[in-house]
Amino acid sequence: MNAPATSAAPKVGFVSLGCPKALTDSELILTQLSAEGYQTSKTFDGADLVIVNTCGFIDDAVKESLDTIGEALAENGRVIVTGCLGARQGDDGGNMVQNIHPSVLAVTGPHATHEVMEAVHKHLPKPHDPFVDLVPAQGIKLTPRHYAYLKISEGCNHRCTFCIIPSMRGDLVSRPIGDVLTEARKLFEAGVKELLVVSQDTSAYGVDVKYRTGFWDGKPVKTRMFDLVRELGELAKGFGAWVRLHYVYPYPHVDEVLPLMAEGLVLPYLDVPLQHSHPDVLRRMKRPASGERNQERIQQWRDVCPELVVRSTFIAGFPGETEEEFAHLLDFVREAQIDRAGCFAYSPVTGAAANELANPVPDELREERRARFMAVAEAVSAERLQRRVGATMQVLVDSAPGMGKKGGVGRSYADAPEIDGTVRLLPPQKISKTLKVGEFTKARIVAAEGHDLVAMPV
Ligand code: SF4
Repeated sequence: MNAPATSAAPKVGFVSLGCPKALTDSELILTQLSAEGYQTSKTFDGADLVIVNTCGFIDDAVKESLDTIGEALAENGRVIVTGCLGARQGDDGGNMVQNIHPSVLAVTGPHATHEVMEAVHKHLPKPHDPFVDLVPAQGIKLTPRHYAYLKISEGCNHRCTFCIIPSMRGDLVSRPIGDVLTEARKLFEAGVKELLVVSQDTSAYGVDVKYRTGFWDGKPVKTRMFDLVRELGELAKGFGAWVRLHYVYPYPHVDEVLPLMAEGLVLPYLDVPLQHSHPDVLRRMKRPASGERNQERIQQWRDVCPELVVRSTFIAGFPGETEEEFAHLLDFVREAQIDRAGCFAYSPVTGAAANELANPVPDELREERRARFMAVAEAVSAERLQRRVGATMQVLVDSAPGMGKKGGVGRSYADAPEIDGTVRLLPPQKISKTLKVGEFTKARIVAAEGHDLVAMPV
């Protein structure tokens, strides 16, 4: 076990696992640590203490989190655990992490900056002279400088039968709209060119506070998805930046946002986690928003905003799923022309209500259906990408060694970072043309390859 170092600025090793919501929790903790004068690092090397932000969603994520905690204990010995896994119960009703790794110093659930900092103060007292002015106004970010996640709420009021997130993160709590917009402005001022709005349920923003009127920039603004998106779009316009919406459930009021996309105020991109198409499966899943008219809804959205790109995730082999229900899902993906689809074979998460449902689908069949789903989804996606060949698109450059003289990699409005495809940029033909990370370039699409496009910067 490492003894705490005696240097003036104690060093905290930090490991961040899990989804973008967990990432934003990590950013808040890292920001606070830096504000108080702690040094932070991504390794355990020479750290006085390690914080592991965990994921507790599916079994693979639980294993990865537990393994990382074990590694941190073996290499460093002084470990604080936070995140979704920290909120999970063990078989005996106690805390799962503490049962498995009793030597951890402290365990908290997700979204718990205050509790994590209390544990840090207890085990690694804060330095006397914090250089608060060294912390950038936008806080510490784990993403590249040109894009950032903006979390607008925490928790969820739904109780989907396959999900245990509400038991870990609690019911919906929307952040005050003034705080969200202030954070967005700081991020744009710091050079962010793409803001990714995340939450458990973006369309539900403000439900918990009855769409209360807040204030921003001296004017009243309602805590409501439409108002938030409009304000973010207006703000982004001044910085020439993109706003991308994730985790949008198809409630009727989402229709109001489509004209803002058609106007170019926010990206015509919607990440809508549909999970299935068949009404009976959706009922067994207890999904929010009626799924019965989703195909029609998507068509109406495209009528209003023809450029719209729809990303979605689905579950194959949910308990009780019949071949007919699965065939309904395949037809849906084809007919709704989902641009980007991900699919998980149903995985029984410990503690999820769906585990009790009748007629579980055998493992092999779940996998087989996932593979069949992906074959159909990929064919739809490839066909839609092919249609872009010949078009000129705006591309945000993510990497461009040597000022792009040998080409680079970027993304168009149709590609969210990490989850969608990319645009491979060829070496520019014009000698004077350079590519810079975090800047936009126009590019003519010359080919589609799998999930990606190939383009010539112009
Ligand atoms: S909407 Fe459903 S799947 Fe999403 S976080 Fe809430 S309970 Fe989980």
